[in-house]
Amino acid sequence: MGCHRSMAQAERQLTALNIAEYGNRALPENYRPASSEDVPDGRNCGNCVHFIEGYCNLWQENVQASFYCNRWVMREDTVTERAPAPPEDQIEGSDKNEPGSAAGKSGDIAISAETAKALENKADEHNEAMAKADRPNWTRVRVGSLRAVYRRGSGAYSTSHRPGIGRAQWSMARVNAFLYLARTGRPKNPKYVGDNDLLNADHPRYSGKRAQERQESYSPTAGMVEEAKRGLAWRREFGRGGTEIGVARARDISNGRDLPLMTVKRMASFFARHEVDKQAEGFRQGEDGYPSNGRIAWALWGGDAGKAWADAIVEREESRVSQVKNILAILRHLV
Ligand code: SF4
Repeated sequence: MGCHRSMAQAERQLTALNIAEYGNRALPENYRPASSEDVPDGRNCGNCVHFIEGYCNLWQENVQASFYCNRWVMREDTVTERAPAPPEDQIEGSDKNEPGSAAGKSGDIAISAETAKALENKADEHNEAMAKADRPNWTRVRVGSLRAVYRRGSGAYSTSHRPGIGRAQWSMARVNAFLYLARTGRPKNPKYVGDNDLLNADHPRYSGKRAQERQESYSPTAGMVEEAKRGLAWRREFGRGGTEIGVARARDISNGRDLPLMTVKRMASFFARHEVDKQAEGFRQGEDGYPSNGRIAWALWGGDAGKAWADAIVEREESRVSQVKNILAILRHLV
């Protein structure tokens, strides 16, 4: 980009030069079929950022998707259209960056000064544009996030990428896809979800730690509230059944208080241990000794409704954790 502050600025300058050179935005002489020998594989107007339904907005001319010119720029949403990387591109690990260095927004990763500057400019330009357009705060990005996205793109390149694309270009395309997602609230390509944890914490697609913390408390259902109230009433009436912990749990549930994941897990564990109490005399209405101590305790923890609710949450959580572990294992393998 030489003396230009950003890619956009450089492009504007190049366009101005082209206009000066050609007198207008006529298609350049190097506009040719994408099947020409000197056109790198996988490049054509159809996947160029300037192509809009048969029209090139750079040259302001109708163009064919199967043609190409030397001003081609990879469209952001092609970042996930991939082919397995050839062996020479499959680099395991990095001698500059530790495994996991692209995990957070600190951007504590080694990249060239030129790339670092380009990312800084991209972040500044993006944030300025968002502020100028009075877009919400969640559209803003941090330079550290862009560095991490770039690093992830660089690692992912070793596994698969579009033929004919260089590692740096692939990584920068991922950064562009990230900026699009940050700007619009959704990815251009629905498959692009791998960097959602690097978005602003208020972004609708943010999936990082704060989102998990926000999500990790759960509201009891009406059925649970009813059972907990019944359990408390039985305790008052009979003076038995359950423990102080069960009573505290029933108070939270009957007040409709959100319960943290840790508590939900304890509830699932309680129900699993005490399912056997259902076999004892007095658990069911009409049996001698109803309600048994086991039945009262069961009610205090939210009853059958509580069991179904806690089991479903724990199952969902376990599946999420196992997915995250798999992704981390893949990332560890890539970096
Ligand atoms: S490659 Fe891109 S810039 Fe060139 S003519 Fe096609 S759409 Fe336009």
